[in-house]
This record gives sequence, C-alpha cells and structure tokens, in this order.
Amino acid sequence: MSLNEIRKAAARIVGFDPKTLDMGPVVLEAGALRQVAPYLKERGYKQVSIVADETTYEVAGRRLYDAIATEGISAHVTKITPNKQGDVIADEASVVQLMLDAKAKKAEVIVALGSGTLHDIARFTAYTIGIPFLSVPTAPSVDGFNSKGAPLIIRGDKQTIQTIGPEAIFADLDVLVEAPPALVAAGFGDMLGKYTSLFDWKFGSITSGEVYEQVVADITMKALLDCVAHVDEIAERKEEGIRLLTAALLDSGFAMLVFGQSHSASGAEHHLSHFWETTFLREDRRQILHGAKVGVACAEISAYYRTIIGDVSAKLPAEQQDAVKLELAKVPDEAEIRRLLTKVGGPSQPSDLGIDSELLAAGLREAHRIRPNRSTMLKFYNDNR
Ligand SMILES: [Zn+2]
Repeated sequence: MSLNEIRKAAARIVGFDPKTLDMGPVVLEAGALRQVAPYLKERGYKQVSIVADETTYEVAGRRLYDAIATEGISAHVTKITPNKQGDVIADEASVVQLMLDAKAKKAEVIVALGSGTLHDIARFTAYTIGIPFLSVPTAPSVDGFNSKGAPLIIRGDKQTIQTIGPEAIFADLDVLVEAPPALVAAGFGDMLGKYTSLFDWKFGSITSGEVYEQVVADITMKALLDCVAHVDEIAERKEEGIRLLTAALLDSGFAMLVFGQSHSASGAEHHLSHFWETTFLREDRRQILHGAKVGVACAEISAYYRTIIGDVSAKLPAEQQDAVKLELAKVPDEAEIRRLLTKVGGPSQPSDLGIDSELLAAGLREAHRIRPNRSTMLKFYNDNR
C-alpha cells in the first residue's frame, strides 16, 4: 500500500491523529539514493551526519557522501565500530560513538544508512540530541525502518525505547537487490512472524479485552500475504520480489505507527526471539539476524500453540474457546512455515541457529516475561498452568 492509502485506511479509526503519519517522501524505487542529497538541500540542512558500517559505507555510503558534498552540504560519516564478536550492535557504546560525532560536527540531521541495527542507533541518537533522521535502508531485512521503537542492548539486556520515526525514507531498489541473501531471508522471516503476532493480538482481544484495530491488522495481514504469494520472486531476489518485500516491511512498520504500539507485528515469536538473543549476548556468542530468529520462532510458536490449545481452551469461557480455535486454525502449521523459510534460503530449525532443545524449552517457559504487559497465548498458558 502507498502511504496515502494507509493514511486513508487509518482515517477510519476513531480518534486517529493524522499527524502520526506526517512524514516527508517515502520513496521505494530504483535510484532512490540519488534523491537524498537534493532532498537535504531542499530542506536547507547544512550539516549532515551519515551513520553506516564498513559494509554499508562501501555499498552506498561513499556515493551518498559524495552526492551530499556536491550539493555544498557538509557531511560526516560515522562508521559504527563492531563489538568484540565482530557484530555491529545497537548498544550504549554505538550510541555514544554516534552521539559524540554528531554533536562535534553540529549535525542537523542524521542519515541512517543500513539495516535495522544502524536505524536503531540513528533513531535513538537523533531523538536524544533532538534532531530528525532519514531512513536509507540497504537491505529488506526488518520491519523497523519506520517505527518509533528503538530496541537497544543496555548492559547486556534488551530494552525497547520509544523514540521517533524517520523524517523521510529513501529505499533504493538498485541497492536493495544487491543485499546478501541472508538479509533478504531475514526480512521474509520477520514478515512470516506476523502470522503468530496477529494471532496473539486477536487472542488478547478475545480473552482479555486488548484494544484491537481491524484496519491495522488488515494492513499487516495484506503485507504478509503479499510476501507469501510472491515467495518465489523474493527467493530469486528479483527486483519485483525485493520491491514487494520492502513494501511489506514498510507497511508493517506503518501499521505499528498507526496503532502507536507493536501488537500487530510482535507477539510470542518476537518474545522467543528476544529470549534467544539475550541468552546469546550473555554467553558472548555472535548475534543472529533478527528476522532469521523470528522466522524460526514463528514455526516453533505455531507448533507449540497447537499442543497447548487444549489446556488453554479449558480455562476459557465457551464462546472464547471457539473464537480462539478458529483464529489458530488460520495460522499455517509449522511444516508450512518451515517450507516457506527454506524456500527463501533462510534457517528453518532452531538447530540451524545453534539453539538446542534446552534453550528452546526454556524460552517457551520464560519468553513471555520479556514483555509482561503484552497478552499472548504463550503468556496466558504460562501464567495459568
Ligand atoms: Zn521483527
């Protein structure tokens, strides 16, 4: 959907504030990178801070830097230093690195050039020092480019902080089609996760009166089904497949902006993924792509929900039992989710991620504590067993 279509759909929500979707251009096309410098000039920015890593600098940063300099704008590149495991992560060290640079150069805007992690570093830093940021995704790897939440790792623990969305988005298909296959598979995995997040949201609305917005769920479901219907083109990383996947990720992000919270896009599969992530951090293991974990976690949650539905159902009033069972039947089974993940070349089993049965079981018992105020069927089961 275009941003305008989303604006129109959102207008049907009672009490929706259209300012929520106030945003400059959202460009998703070949050559979008070339529009960044003219945009900065038109907006009158004179000091620009680009945040990248070694890879995204090579892929697009150098070109972007030159284009901005050609417009007579002073630009500075901060390449975020990887941690001792060799990963660029959104932790206090990365944030302070960018903050010091942006402050020293008197940056008026930050350009996030990269995938989810660099966006999280940029969004938190921009918010903290009180300037806007632009989103320039280099891989269709996650649905968080346009969200406000910045998941940060603070002293080894994950914490999501509400900050700001981007002022504009320039997603260049020429860059995105060159993204590594693992990042494309991760983006697809993050989208597949909506099967269980949308279920959990509905579960919360049925069993505990959680506020539910059909429009927001519909936008997210449409984005998800678009990806599933075009899994072959995505797997082959054809331009149309990459465009569809990127558009779906952006739509899922817009759906979160419209609702003001992440229910549509993040349920038990995300909590399980976060549980694995923090375990890996504690054990100083290398990080796994967010969407790779979410895709596998979605298959696990789909399987687990089918085993616990009887117990859960026994604790619900009769009319809720039927509604919940009906919703769960709409979630594809684990075999189908793993088949789709395999099709795009992503990991499909916990063992592919180095997650053993012990960690898997621990996550299913404890992951709901990551977000104790979010109702999911996993939380309901663990709280009532
Ligand atoms: Zn996600």
